[in-house]
Order: sequence, then C-alpha cells, then structure tokens
Amino acid sequence: MRIWKTKEGSKIVQVLKGRSNSYIIVKECSVILIDTGKKSAFKLLTWNMQSNNINLKDISTLILTHTHYDHCQSAKQIKSISNCNIIVSDSAAESIKNGYSKLPYGTSLPTKILSALGNIIGKQKFGYDIFKPDTFVKGDYDLSSGRGNIKIIETKGHSPDSISVIVDNEIAIVGDAMFGVFPNSIFPPFSDDTSGMVESWGKLLQTNCRIFLPGHGKEIRRNLLEEQYFKHCLK
Ligand SMILES: [Zn+2]
Repeated sequence: MRIWKTKEGSKIVQVLKGRSNSYIIVKECSVILIDTGKKSAFKLLTWNMQSNNINLKDISTLILTHTHYDHCQSAKQIKSISNCNIIVSDSAAESIKNGYSKLPYGTSLPTKILSALGNIIGKQKFGYDIFKPDTFVKGDYDLSSGRGNIKIIETKGHSPDSISVIVDNEIAIVGDAMFGVFPNSIFPPFSDDTSGMVESWGKLLQTNCRIFLPGHGKEIRRNLLEEQYFKHCLK
C-alpha cells in the first residue's frame, strides 16, 4: 500500500485500491478515513488497516468525497464499530435518507449507456445501507484543530455532492473529481456537470497541492492537472 508524507508530518496511507480507493490520514493518534469503498471490500479494508497497526475502532472521522455506492457502502458498518464523526456534503442529505445516490451521466456514448442502464437497476445494486451523518458541509470547512491542517472544499461536477480534502496544503484527496486510470488524462468517464467539474479543477489549482489522490487509479501530479485544466477550459 502506498504512503505519502507531508512536510508538516501528516501521513496518508492508501488502504484500498483497485475498484475504488480509500485513504487514511494519520497525525498525532488521530485517524481520518476518506471513503469506504464497496461493501464487498470491507474485509480487505479492515485487513489493510490492521497491517498498518490501525484498528477500525481507531477511526475518529469518516469523510465521504461523495455518496456514490462505491465510495460509501460500508459507512454504516464503520460508524457502528468506531462511532466516528461522518462528514459529507449537505447536497447528499436527501440521497442518504434514501440509501441511494443517482449514478452520474456518462461522458462518452458507452458510459452514457452504462449510466442509463445503471439508473434503471438503481438502488437494488447501487444503493447502500442508510447511515447517519454528523456533519453536513456547505462551502469550505476547516478540520484543522489537533488534526494537522486539513480542509474540505466543494469540488462539484462529477456529482453535486463532491468534496475534496486538502492535507497541509500539499496533497489533495479528490474522490472522482478526477480519474487516475488513463494515461495523460484525468477526465472522468462519468460526470453530472462537466463544466462545473473543470471549474473545480481550477479551484484545486488555487491550492498549493502538488499531488492529487483520486477515487480510482493512481496519483495525479499537478502538471497533468494544469495541462488538462487549460485544455478543457478552452473547449
Ligand atoms: Zn463517483
């Protein structure tokens, strides 16, 4: 599992990879989990955390970059084990009550078809156990006290409830605001509002972050984000 360290001493550990990524931020005994992955990955998540000497019970905060099923399906279970503080965008409030967040539109013909089919199947396959968030974020949110310099910013576009976590103004955990799956492109295969998403890339570039950790695929470097931002801005 990959580990990143900031100059301020925050450690980010990737605890799930493959189908969906999850990360933990560790600083001074506090453990923040970012996204839970799918329910089917719960055992693997537990095991990967334990191999880093961290128990699920140690999680103090769970931040969901958004509430698509592949990012939040274990939220209820993790809260029942750790009693963590769950933080989500306030735009997710209604979907969470229903245990289903609509799948985003496709950005190409094949993914448009996949998205339409997925939304017909809906909650049965792409839903999640209803959980109770503790904090709804609207606008920017500062989590800094005692947990390093951690800020949450709205990065809408892929979904209306997309948020990103900025660690020590150096590394950003961005959910599906960008994808790390394709070489030389960060453009997600699914997005509800593409121009909003490009605007969010601009917002992320206003930070000093040099590394962007996506919900799928590998880390993205700032120069690729800059290149993609200007390319899609001009469209
Ligand atoms: Zn998503």
